[in-house]
Amino acid sequence: MIKKNLQLLIATKNSGKVAEMENLLSSLPVSLHNLNEFPDSFEPAETSSTFAGNARLKAQSYARQCNLPALADDSGLEVAALDGAPGVFSARYAGKDSTSEEKIKKLLREIESSRSQDRAARFVCAMAFADENGNIIFAAEGVCTGKISIAPRGTNGFGYDPIFIPTGFEQTFGELTNETKQKISHRALAMAQTIRCLQDFIGS
Ligand code: IMP
Repeated sequence: MIKKNLQLLIATKNSGKVAEMENLLSSLPVSLHNLNEFPDSFEPAETSSTFAGNARLKAQSYARQCNLPALADDSGLEVAALDGAPGVFSARYAGKDSTSEEKIKKLLREIESSRSQDRAARFVCAMAFADENGNIIFAAEGVCTGKISIAPRGTNGFGYDPIFIPTGFEQTFGELTNETKQKISHRALAMAQTIRCLQDFIGS
C-alpha cells in the first residue's frame, strides 16, 4: 500500500543543502520539511569519526526530536595534501562559526605549506534515513573526486564549491551550473541510492 503524502524531514538547516535536496527529491510523492521549521531543535554532537556515523546520529536525533521520518546527510571535503582533512571537520575547519571564505582561505594556505602540495581531493556525502521513532531504515554514500583550484572561482553553490574542480571538468563547482552539479555531485550520487530506498519505504 502506498503511504500517501508521507511527511519527510530534511534534517539540515543549511540552506544550500536544503535547496539541493529538495530539488533531488522533487520527483517523490512526499511533503518536505526542513529544520528551519523546528527552531527549538538542537544539533546533536557529531561524535563519530566517519561521515556515515554522523549521518546516522543526525537522522536518529532529529527524527525523535521532530517526530517525523528524517533524512540526514553528513558530508565534507577530503584533501590528499592534508591527509584527508578537513574531512568530518569540514563545517568547523576554521572555527565553529567560520564563513566559507575563511574556511577556503585556511584550506588553500594549508595546502601551500604542506609537504606534498597534492591538490587531489574528494567530496563525500553519507546519508541516513530514520523512521519517526529514530530507527535507521537505510544508509547510502556518494563520492565525487576532483582537485582543489589555485584560487576560488565562481559564485554558485555553497561551502567549498568555489575551489573544487570535479574530475572531467575545468571549472569549479562554483562556476558550473546547479544542473551540472546535481548530476555528478557526491550528494546527487548518495541521493540516487536514497531515492530508490525511499520509493521502497513509501510503497511498503
Ligand atoms: P555537515 O555535513 O553539516 O557537517 O557540513 C559539511 C560541510 O562540508 C559544509 O558546511 C560545507 O562546508 C562542506 N560541504 C559539504 N558538501 C558540500 C558541497 O556540496 N559543496 C561545498 N561544500 C560542501
